[in-house]
Amino acid sequence: MTEGANPFESLQSQIDEAATHLEVGDDVIERLKHPERVLETNLTVELDDGSFERFKAFRSQFNGDRGPYKGGIRYHPQVSRDEVKALSGWMVYKCATAGIPYGGGKGGIIIDPDEYSEAELERVTRAFATELRPMIGEDRDIPAPDVNTGQREMNWIKDTYETLENTTEPGVITGKNIASGGSEGRVEATGRSTVLAAREAFDYLGKDLEGATVAVQGYGNAGWIAAKLIDRMGATVVAVSDSNGGVYNDSGLDPVAARDHKNETGSVVGFGESEEELTNDEVLTLDVDLLIPAALENAIDADLADDVRADVISEAANGPLTPKADAILEDKDVFVIPDILANAGGVTVSYFEWVQNRQRFYWTEEKVNSELEEIIVDAFDALVETLEEYNLENPRIAAYVVAIQRVADSFEEAGTFP
Ligand code: GLU
Repeated sequence: MTEGANPFESLQSQIDEAATHLEVGDDVIERLKHPERVLETNLTVELDDGSFERFKAFRSQFNGDRGPYKGGIRYHPQVSRDEVKALSGWMVYKCATAGIPYGGGKGGIIIDPDEYSEAELERVTRAFATELRPMIGEDRDIPAPDVNTGQREMNWIKDTYETLENTTEPGVITGKNIASGGSEGRVEATGRSTVLAAREAFDYLGKDLEGATVAVQGYGNAGWIAAKLIDRMGATVVAVSDSNGGVYNDSGLDPVAARDHKNETGSVVGFGESEEELTNDEVLTLDVDLLIPAALENAIDADLADDVRADVISEAANGPLTPKADAILEDKDVFVIPDILANAGGVTVSYFEWVQNRQRFYWTEEKVNSELEEIIVDAFDALVETLEEYNLENPRIAAYVVAIQRVADSFEEAGTFP
């Protein structure tokens, strides 16, 4: 990651490129390139030693034409206003790609969660939830987990909101644990859609997933589940990495054992089955059939893209390719399944969670997984149809063509007020 593309500019250039294939007016496209509003807030939180610290936090509500704003909240030192704006826009087009009735939003706090105690993180989270309270709600804006947040933070946000509102409204947030109204299958959903989309792509390209080699960059919730599930489908996971580096074994690594090692030691580095240690860039440029970037934005820039040797990329992360890298990979005929489809399983099962919360009627894991599969397969089919109909080379542009048309249709039906 050297190029450091601004993710908000990346989003806008993706929209501009897709717009050249659509008969949607420039005035409407202009609307679809900017968030409707962004909250920027400074949280003052008491630390365990009695001192106070200020944390900057954001929530961007990008577009609500297709339904309530929807999207995660991330905790990371590199969170910025432009990053949150970009991520909220990607949520709009992700929900449209999946055909689920939401707009897009995203939030973030500039914080390194490793530096704080659990009690401090709870106070930070509840302070943010208090700031968010007027703008969220099950029909307004529904946050969810993202990088460095999970069930624990979602439970705190739900509890803070419900306490302040004096209500029961589990659908105000998704990604909760089961006891707080979460859904079966939600934790695995992002990794699951990443591999379902890869399976569809291999099928479309006439490639065999059985015995295919796979490299996974990033071993958080999305990456490690993707590794586990693709291994179960018969592929061979030859390399995995996290922010400390990567491990490689020609004849395959056991993804679950690698995760256990990371849980025990804090990293996959040093994992016993490893034959060779690799850097993250080396993992991203391995000669494999399938590459799964599952960390942060801009993991592959133009320089690295020149060296990428994978045939298929399934983007578990949001925005892992810079626009220049994307263009280079298109020229190299790498089939890239875009983030807004590949990782859409997370928000799709969030949608199922919200539906279950509103009905107070809960599904089995089997039902969740089969409904998810149907949505991802349908979304992939729509992408391929558009790719062929418009004679496009780049699957990302095809996904945006479908998604932008869906958002523009909603806007044009409703008009604008006041
Ligand atoms: N943070 C996830 C994403 O980027 C999930 C969002 C959600 O479930 O609303 O898609």
